[in-house]
Amino acid sequence: MRLRHIKGAEETIAASPYVIQEPEKCRGRWSEVFHNQNPIRIEVGMGKGKFLMELAQRNPDINYVGIERYSSVLLRGLQKREELEITNIWFLCIDARQLAEIFEEGEVERIYLNFSDPWPKDRHAKRRLTSPEFMAVYNKILARDGQVEFKTDNEGLFDYSLESIPEAGWRIEASTRDLHRSPMAEGNVMTEYEEKFASRGNPIYKLIAKRG
Ligand code: SAM
Repeated sequence: MRLRHIKGAEETIAASPYVIQEPEKCRGRWSEVFHNQNPIRIEVGMGKGKFLMELAQRNPDINYVGIERYSSVLLRGLQKREELEITNIWFLCIDARQLAEIFEEGEVERIYLNFSDPWPKDRHAKRRLTSPEFMAVYNKILARDGQVEFKTDNEGLFDYSLESIPEAGWRIEASTRDLHRSPMAEGNVMTEYEEKFASRGNPIYKLIAKRG
């Protein structure tokens, strides 16, 4: 993703009523943060958050946490968030490597990875959000029967993930190389990147992973 530093982004994020500033303090206490016991689903690398905000509007009985490491990207999501009257979504400006400091064992019911950066060079493989290193982090926070849902337009990253995820001890529950023409499309909510790639006629790949 092309990144442009936006002046004042950090300050705006730090003052935003929609961003949790010290998320480590929420660990094990997310039900207090949301004031209910509803399941918690998170998107790692949410970008501007279109996907998660749409899910939050559709599903008031599910809690959502959007994670984005760049303040300049998250900032764009906050502008949209201000227009919505919903209480079931929070944003965090953190690196996903920190997830186990922020969620307790089993506290997350589902993890969405959408159009994650492909990091095509071998020496950067550990940065891919479906690498065994990241799967080990998800393993710490995900509920026993929880799942990871991954969508991408990048065939190389998809092929890599079909190997790296089982290597990390997970099983691929379902997968498709053409989501929009598969039964897995039912209820699909498109992300910003997904709209862009699908409008060019590119196939969208999806897999669902559960623990082995
Ligand atoms: N999910 C959105 C979509 O599908 O439209 C955005 C996709 S964008 C290509 C990937 C996003 O993931 C970027 O905004 C990037 O900053 C974020 N990201 C990548 N690695 C991350 C990490 N380790 N922790 C948090 N965010 C990350």
